[in-house]
Amino acid sequence: MLRQALLALSASDKARALIMANPLTRDVVNRFVAGEAAGAALVATRRLQAEGMLVTIDFLGEDTVDPDRATAVTEEYVRLLDQLSAAGLSSQGRAEVSVKPTAVGLGLAEHGQNRALENLAKIASAARNAGTTVTVDMEDHPWVEGTLRLVTELRADFPDLGCVVQSYLRRSPEDCRDLAVAGSRVRLCKGAYRAPAGVGLAARSEVDLSYARCMRILLDGPGYPMLATHDPRLIRIAATMADRGGRPADSFEYQMLYGIRTDEQSRLAGDGSRVRVYLPYGSDWYGYLVRRLAERPANLAFFLRALRSRS
Ligand SMILES: Cc1cc2nc3c(=O)[nH]c(=O)nc-3n(C[C@H](O)[C@H](O)[C@H](O)COP(=O)(O)OP(=O)(O)OC[C@H]3O[C@@H](n4cnc5c(N)ncnc54)[C@H](O)[C@@H]3O)c2cc1C
Repeated sequence: MLRQALLALSASDKARALIMANPLTRDVVNRFVAGEAAGAALVATRRLQAEGMLVTIDFLGEDTVDPDRATAVTEEYVRLLDQLSAAGLSSQGRAEVSVKPTAVGLGLAEHGQNRALENLAKIASAARNAGTTVTVDMEDHPWVEGTLRLVTELRADFPDLGCVVQSYLRRSPEDCRDLAVAGSRVRLCKGAYRAPAGVGLAARSEVDLSYARCMRILLDGPGYPMLATHDPRLIRIAATMADRGGRPADSFEYQMLYGIRTDEQSRLAGDGSRVRVYLPYGSDWYGYLVRRLAERPANLAFFLRALRSRS
Protein backbone atom coordinates (compact mmCIF):
# COMPACT_ATOMS: atom_id res chain seq x y z
CA MET A 1 0.00 0.00 0.00
CA LEU A 2 2.70 2.43 1.16
CA ARG A 3 4.90 1.37 -1.72
CA GLN A 4 2.12 2.01 -4.22
CA ALA A 5 1.41 5.44 -2.71
CA LEU A 6 5.10 6.36 -2.91
CA LEU A 7 5.41 5.17 -6.49
CA ALA A 8 2.38 7.33 -7.38
CA LEU A 9 4.13 10.22 -5.62
CA SER A 10 7.18 9.73 -7.84
CA ALA A 11 5.04 10.82 -10.81
CA SER A 12 3.43 13.81 -9.08
CA ASP A 13 4.68 17.23 -10.25
CA LYS A 14 3.29 18.91 -7.14
CA ALA A 15 5.10 16.61 -4.72
CA ARG A 16 8.25 16.89 -6.87
CA ALA A 17 8.24 20.69 -6.61
CA LEU A 18 7.62 20.60 -2.84
CA ILE A 19 10.27 18.02 -1.99
CA MET A 20 12.94 19.30 -4.38
CA ALA A 21 12.59 22.85 -3.02
CA ASN A 22 13.12 21.67 0.56
CA PRO A 23 16.80 22.19 1.47
CA LEU A 24 16.45 19.63 4.30
CA THR A 25 16.09 16.82 1.75
CA ARG A 26 19.80 17.19 0.90
CA ASP A 27 21.14 14.77 3.56
CA VAL A 28 18.95 11.97 2.27
CA VAL A 29 19.78 12.69 -1.37
CA ASN A 30 23.52 12.63 -0.57
CA ARG A 31 23.18 9.07 0.67
CA PHE A 32 22.01 7.81 -2.72
CA VAL A 33 23.41 10.30 -5.26
CA ALA A 34 27.09 11.16 -5.92
CA GLY A 35 26.44 14.88 -6.47
CA GLU A 36 25.00 17.26 -9.02
CA ALA A 37 27.93 17.65 -11.46
CA ALA A 38 29.86 15.12 -13.56
CA GLY A 39 32.97 15.99 -11.51
CA ALA A 40 31.35 14.45 -8.42
CA ALA A 41 30.61 11.24 -10.35
CA LEU A 42 34.24 11.07 -11.48
CA VAL A 43 35.51 11.50 -7.91
CA ALA A 44 33.16 8.76 -6.63
CA THR A 45 34.11 6.47 -9.55
CA ARG A 46 37.82 6.83 -8.76
CA ARG A 47 37.17 6.03 -5.08
CA LEU A 48 34.98 2.99 -5.84
CA GLN A 49 37.49 1.63 -8.35
CA ALA A 50 40.26 2.02 -5.77
CA GLU A 51 38.10 -0.16 -3.50
CA GLY A 52 37.96 -2.85 -6.19
CA MET A 53 34.52 -2.06 -7.65
CA LEU A 54 33.31 -1.60 -11.20
CA VAL A 55 30.91 1.29 -11.83
CA THR A 56 27.95 2.18 -14.02
CA ILE A 57 27.04 5.87 -14.05
CA ASP A 58 23.51 7.22 -14.46
CA PHE A 59 22.91 10.88 -15.34
CA LEU A 60 19.62 11.38 -13.50
CA GLY A 61 16.50 12.32 -15.46
CA GLU A 62 13.54 10.55 -17.08
CA ASP A 63 10.21 11.05 -18.84
CA THR A 64 11.55 13.81 -21.07
CA VAL A 65 8.88 15.45 -23.24
CA ASP A 66 11.18 18.10 -24.70
CA PRO A 67 13.42 17.13 -27.67
CA ASP A 68 16.04 19.71 -26.66
CA ARG A 69 16.27 18.14 -23.23
CA ALA A 70 16.77 14.69 -24.79
CA THR A 71 19.62 16.15 -26.86
CA ALA A 72 21.15 17.84 -23.81
CA VAL A 73 21.08 14.56 -21.85
CA THR A 74 22.78 12.77 -24.78
CA GLU A 75 25.47 15.45 -24.92
CA GLU A 76 26.03 15.17 -21.17
CA TYR A 77 26.62 11.40 -21.50
CA VAL A 78 29.04 11.92 -24.41
CA ARG A 79 30.99 14.54 -22.40
CA LEU A 80 30.99 12.27 -19.35
CA LEU A 81 32.41 9.36 -21.37
CA ASP A 82 35.15 11.62 -22.79
CA GLN A 83 36.01 12.73 -19.25
CA LEU A 84 36.05 9.15 -17.95
CA SER A 85 38.36 8.17 -20.78
CA ALA A 86 40.71 11.15 -20.25
CA ALA A 87 40.85 10.29 -16.53
CA GLY A 88 41.73 6.65 -17.33
CA LEU A 89 38.62 5.33 -15.58
CA SER A 90 36.64 3.70 -18.40
CA SER A 91 38.99 1.24 -20.14
CA GLN A 92 37.92 -2.43 -20.26
CA GLY A 93 34.46 -1.44 -19.10
CA ARG A 94 35.60 -0.59 -15.57
CA ALA A 95 33.16 2.33 -15.67
CA GLU A 96 30.25 2.21 -18.10
CA VAL A 97 27.03 4.23 -18.29
CA SER A 98 23.37 3.37 -17.69
CA VAL A 99 20.83 5.28 -19.77
CA LYS A 100 17.06 5.58 -19.37
CA PRO A 101 15.37 5.49 -22.80
CA THR A 102 12.79 8.12 -21.77
CA ALA A 103 15.62 10.48 -20.78
CA VAL A 104 16.92 10.45 -24.36
CA GLY A 105 13.59 10.75 -26.15
CA LEU A 106 11.59 7.49 -26.11
CA GLY A 107 8.56 9.30 -24.69
CA LEU A 108 8.58 12.23 -27.12
CA ALA A 109 5.22 12.79 -28.80
CA GLU A 110 6.80 12.77 -32.27
CA HIS A 111 9.31 10.17 -33.48
CA GLY A 112 10.22 9.15 -29.92
CA GLN A 113 11.48 5.71 -30.94
CA ASN A 114 13.76 7.12 -33.66
CA ARG A 115 15.00 9.94 -31.51
CA ALA A 116 15.90 7.56 -28.68
CA LEU A 117 17.62 5.24 -31.18
CA GLU A 118 19.76 8.06 -32.61
CA ASN A 119 20.67 9.40 -29.17
CA LEU A 120 21.53 5.99 -27.73
CA ALA A 121 23.68 5.24 -30.79
CA LYS A 122 25.64 8.47 -30.15
CA ILE A 123 26.19 7.48 -26.52
CA ALA A 124 27.14 3.90 -27.44
CA SER A 125 29.63 5.21 -29.98
CA ALA A 126 31.22 7.54 -27.37
CA ALA A 127 31.34 4.59 -24.98
CA ARG A 128 33.13 2.46 -27.56
CA ASN A 129 35.71 5.23 -28.07
CA ALA A 130 36.20 5.30 -24.29
CA GLY A 131 36.79 1.53 -24.17
CA THR A 132 33.51 0.79 -22.48
CA THR A 133 29.81 0.23 -23.08
CA VAL A 134 26.23 1.22 -22.25
CA THR A 135 23.45 -0.55 -20.37
CA VAL A 136 19.93 0.52 -21.32
CA ASP A 137 17.86 0.76 -18.11
CA MET A 138 14.33 -0.67 -18.08
CA GLU A 139 11.57 1.69 -16.95
CA ASP A 140 7.85 1.36 -16.27
CA HIS A 141 6.01 -1.50 -18.05
CA PRO A 142 4.54 0.53 -20.97
CA TRP A 143 8.12 1.19 -22.16
CA VAL A 144 9.30 -2.43 -22.16
CA GLU A 145 8.45 -3.33 -25.79
CA GLY A 146 9.92 -0.09 -27.17
CA THR A 147 13.06 -0.49 -25.07
CA LEU A 148 13.65 -4.08 -26.19
CA ARG A 149 13.19 -2.95 -29.81
CA LEU A 150 15.84 -0.27 -29.26
CA VAL A 151 18.22 -2.83 -27.77
CA THR A 152 17.72 -5.28 -30.65
CA GLU A 153 18.37 -2.57 -33.27
CA LEU A 154 21.38 -1.12 -31.46
CA ARG A 155 22.99 -4.50 -30.87
CA ALA A 156 23.47 -4.87 -34.63
CA ASP A 157 26.18 -2.19 -34.31
CA PHE A 158 26.97 -2.45 -30.60
CA PRO A 159 26.74 -6.15 -29.65
CA ASP A 160 28.02 -5.47 -26.12
CA LEU A 161 25.11 -3.10 -25.32
CA GLY A 162 23.54 -4.20 -22.04
CA CYS A 163 19.82 -4.55 -21.37
CA VAL A 164 17.65 -5.12 -18.31
CA VAL A 165 15.03 -7.70 -17.34
CA GLN A 166 12.72 -7.06 -14.37
CA SER A 167 11.61 -10.23 -12.58
CA TYR A 168 8.30 -8.69 -11.45
CA LEU A 169 7.03 -8.86 -15.05
CA ARG A 170 5.30 -12.10 -16.04
CA ARG A 171 7.01 -12.07 -19.44
CA SER A 172 10.53 -12.02 -18.00
CA PRO A 173 11.54 -15.71 -18.02
CA GLU A 174 10.73 -15.75 -21.74
CA ASP A 175 12.72 -12.54 -22.29
CA CYS A 176 15.65 -14.14 -20.45
CA ARG A 177 15.50 -17.16 -22.77
CA ASP A 178 15.58 -14.84 -25.81
CA LEU A 179 18.40 -12.76 -24.38
CA ALA A 180 20.62 -15.53 -23.01
CA VAL A 181 22.83 -15.74 -26.10
CA ALA A 182 26.61 -15.57 -26.46
CA GLY A 183 28.06 -12.15 -25.60
CA SER A 184 24.72 -10.79 -24.37
CA ARG A 185 25.03 -8.55 -21.29
CA VAL A 186 21.78 -8.80 -19.32
CA ARG A 187 21.07 -7.07 -16.01
CA LEU A 188 18.49 -8.89 -13.91
CA CYS A 189 16.65 -6.83 -11.27
CA LYS A 190 13.34 -7.20 -9.42
CA GLY A 191 11.90 -3.98 -10.90
CA ALA A 192 11.30 -0.63 -9.27
CA TYR A 193 7.79 -0.11 -10.69
CA ARG A 194 4.28 -1.60 -10.40
CA ALA A 195 2.18 -3.18 -13.14
CA PRO A 196 -1.43 -4.41 -13.43
CA ALA A 197 -2.06 -8.01 -12.34
CA GLY A 198 -2.06 -9.46 -15.86
CA VAL A 199 1.31 -7.90 -16.58
CA GLY A 200 3.19 -7.99 -13.30
CA LEU A 201 3.54 -10.07 -10.14
CA ALA A 202 2.49 -8.32 -6.94
CA ALA A 203 3.62 -10.59 -4.10
CA ARG A 204 7.26 -10.23 -3.07
CA SER A 205 7.60 -14.02 -2.82
CA GLU A 206 6.47 -14.41 -6.46
CA VAL A 207 8.88 -11.70 -7.63
CA ASP A 208 11.74 -13.41 -5.76
CA LEU A 209 10.86 -16.82 -7.19
CA SER A 210 10.74 -15.33 -10.67
CA TYR A 211 14.15 -13.71 -10.01
CA ALA A 212 15.64 -17.10 -9.11
CA ARG A 213 14.10 -18.64 -12.26
CA CYS A 214 15.42 -15.88 -14.51
CA MET A 215 18.82 -16.10 -12.85
CA ARG A 216 19.02 -19.81 -13.57
CA ILE A 217 18.22 -19.22 -17.27
CA LEU A 218 20.87 -16.50 -17.53
CA LEU A 219 23.55 -18.37 -15.57
CA ASP A 220 22.94 -21.56 -17.58
CA GLY A 221 23.27 -19.62 -20.85
CA PRO A 222 26.36 -18.36 -22.70
CA GLY A 223 25.78 -14.64 -22.04
CA TYR A 224 27.13 -12.32 -19.35
CA PRO A 225 24.60 -12.04 -16.47
CA MET A 226 24.62 -8.89 -14.32
CA LEU A 227 22.77 -9.78 -11.12
CA ALA A 228 21.40 -6.52 -9.69
CA THR A 229 20.04 -7.14 -6.23
CA HIS A 230 20.80 -6.42 -2.57
CA ASP A 231 18.77 -9.41 -1.43
CA PRO A 232 21.07 -11.63 0.69
CA ARG A 233 19.09 -14.78 -0.08
CA LEU A 234 19.21 -14.26 -3.85
CA ILE A 235 22.92 -13.43 -3.67
CA ARG A 236 23.51 -16.72 -1.84
CA ILE A 237 21.46 -18.61 -4.45
CA ALA A 238 23.40 -16.89 -7.25
CA ALA A 239 26.74 -17.95 -5.75
CA THR A 240 25.54 -21.55 -5.40
CA MET A 241 24.14 -21.70 -8.94
CA ALA A 242 27.34 -20.19 -10.41
CA ASP A 243 29.49 -22.57 -8.41
CA ARG A 244 27.49 -25.67 -9.36
CA GLY A 245 27.42 -24.59 -13.00
CA GLY A 246 31.21 -24.14 -13.02
CA ARG A 247 30.93 -20.46 -13.93
CA PRO A 248 34.24 -18.60 -13.49
CA ALA A 249 34.01 -15.48 -11.27
CA ASP A 250 34.76 -13.21 -14.22
CA SER A 251 31.88 -14.56 -16.34
CA PHE A 252 29.15 -12.67 -14.45
CA GLU A 253 28.84 -9.78 -12.03
CA TYR A 254 26.82 -8.58 -9.07
CA GLN A 255 25.41 -5.06 -9.18
CA MET A 256 24.19 -2.84 -6.34
CA LEU A 257 23.11 0.76 -5.92
CA TYR A 258 25.41 3.49 -4.62
CA GLY A 259 24.99 3.85 -0.85
CA ILE A 260 23.06 0.60 -0.34
CA ARG A 261 24.57 -2.44 1.47
CA THR A 262 28.09 -1.12 0.95
CA ASP A 263 29.50 -3.74 3.39
CA GLU A 264 28.11 -6.49 1.19
CA GLN A 265 29.58 -4.82 -1.89
CA SER A 266 33.02 -4.87 -0.23
CA ARG A 267 32.61 -8.44 1.00
CA LEU A 268 31.76 -9.77 -2.47
CA ALA A 269 34.58 -7.80 -4.13
CA GLY A 270 36.99 -9.01 -1.42
CA ASP A 271 35.97 -12.60 -2.19
CA GLY A 272 37.01 -12.12 -5.82
CA SER A 273 33.57 -11.50 -7.36
CA ARG A 274 32.99 -8.75 -9.89
CA VAL A 275 30.81 -6.06 -8.27
CA ARG A 276 29.48 -3.04 -10.14
CA VAL A 277 28.04 -0.04 -8.31
CA TYR A 278 25.21 1.93 -9.98
CA LEU A 279 26.24 5.53 -9.41
CA PRO A 280 23.70 8.29 -10.11
CA TYR A 281 24.51 12.00 -10.36
CA GLY A 282 22.68 15.13 -11.48
CA SER A 283 20.09 17.55 -10.16
CA ASP A 284 17.00 15.66 -11.38
CA TRP A 285 17.07 13.19 -8.49
CA TYR A 286 13.41 13.24 -7.45
CA GLY A 287 12.06 10.10 -9.19
CA TYR A 288 15.16 8.10 -8.26
CA LEU A 289 14.95 9.13 -4.61
CA VAL A 290 11.26 8.31 -4.23
CA ARG A 291 11.80 4.84 -5.76
CA ARG A 292 14.56 4.20 -3.17
CA LEU A 293 12.20 5.33 -0.39
CA ALA A 294 9.47 3.06 -1.73
CA GLU A 295 11.78 0.03 -1.68
CA ARG A 296 12.39 0.18 2.04
CA PRO A 297 10.15 1.69 4.73
CA ALA A 298 13.25 2.31 6.88
CA ASN A 299 14.48 4.77 4.24
CA LEU A 300 11.23 6.69 4.53
CA ALA A 301 11.64 6.86 8.32
CA PHE A 302 15.23 8.09 7.82
CA PHE A 303 13.93 10.73 5.39
CA LEU A 304 11.19 11.93 7.76
CA ARG A 305 13.62 11.98 10.71
CA ALA A 306 16.10 14.07 8.70
CA LEU A 307 13.35 16.58 7.90
CA ARG A 308 12.10 16.70 11.52
CA SER A 309 15.49 17.02 13.20
CA ARG A 310 16.50 19.93 11.00
CA SER A 311 13.21 21.84 10.94
C1 LIG B 1 22.51 -1.98 -10.23
C2 LIG B 1 21.03 -1.86 -10.24
C3 LIG B 1 20.39 -1.45 -11.39
C4 LIG B 1 19.00 -1.36 -11.41
N1 LIG B 1 18.37 -1.03 -12.58
C5 LIG B 1 17.03 -1.08 -12.63
C6 LIG B 1 16.33 -0.89 -13.85
O1 LIG B 1 16.93 -0.68 -14.92
N2 LIG B 1 14.98 -0.94 -13.83
C7 LIG B 1 14.28 -1.18 -12.66
O2 LIG B 1 13.05 -1.24 -12.69
N3 LIG B 1 14.92 -1.34 -11.49
C8 LIG B 1 16.26 -1.29 -11.44
N4 LIG B 1 16.89 -1.50 -10.25
C9 LIG B 1 16.11 -1.50 -8.98
C10 LIG B 1 15.61 -2.89 -8.65
O3 LIG B 1 14.63 -3.27 -9.58
C11 LIG B 1 15.01 -2.94 -7.23
O4 LIG B 1 13.98 -2.01 -7.13
C12 LIG B 1 15.99 -2.66 -6.14
O5 LIG B 1 17.26 -3.16 -6.43
C13 LIG B 1 15.53 -3.31 -4.81
O6 LIG B 1 15.40 -4.69 -4.97
P1 LIG B 1 16.37 -5.78 -4.32
O7 LIG B 1 16.64 -6.80 -5.37
O8 LIG B 1 17.57 -5.13 -3.75
O9 LIG B 1 15.49 -6.52 -3.24
P2 LIG B 1 14.60 -6.03 -2.03
O10 LIG B 1 13.82 -7.22 -1.63
O11 LIG B 1 13.89 -4.77 -2.35
O12 LIG B 1 15.68 -5.71 -0.93
C14 LIG B 1 16.49 -6.70 -0.33
C15 LIG B 1 17.32 -6.02 0.76
O13 LIG B 1 18.21 -5.08 0.17
C16 LIG B 1 18.28 -3.89 0.92
N5 LIG B 1 17.69 -2.78 0.14
C17 LIG B 1 17.01 -2.88 -1.02
N6 LIG B 1 16.63 -1.66 -1.48
C18 LIG B 1 17.07 -0.79 -0.57
C19 LIG B 1 17.01 0.62 -0.48
N7 LIG B 1 16.40 1.35 -1.39
N8 LIG B 1 17.57 1.20 0.59
C20 LIG B 1 18.20 0.48 1.54
N9 LIG B 1 18.30 -0.87 1.51
C21 LIG B 1 17.76 -1.50 0.46
C22 LIG B 1 17.51 -4.16 2.18
O14 LIG B 1 18.39 -4.71 3.13
C23 LIG B 1 16.50 -5.19 1.73
O15 LIG B 1 16.02 -5.97 2.79
C24 LIG B 1 18.27 -1.64 -10.23
C25 LIG B 1 18.91 -2.08 -9.08
C26 LIG B 1 20.28 -2.21 -9.07
C27 LIG B 1 20.94 -2.72 -7.84
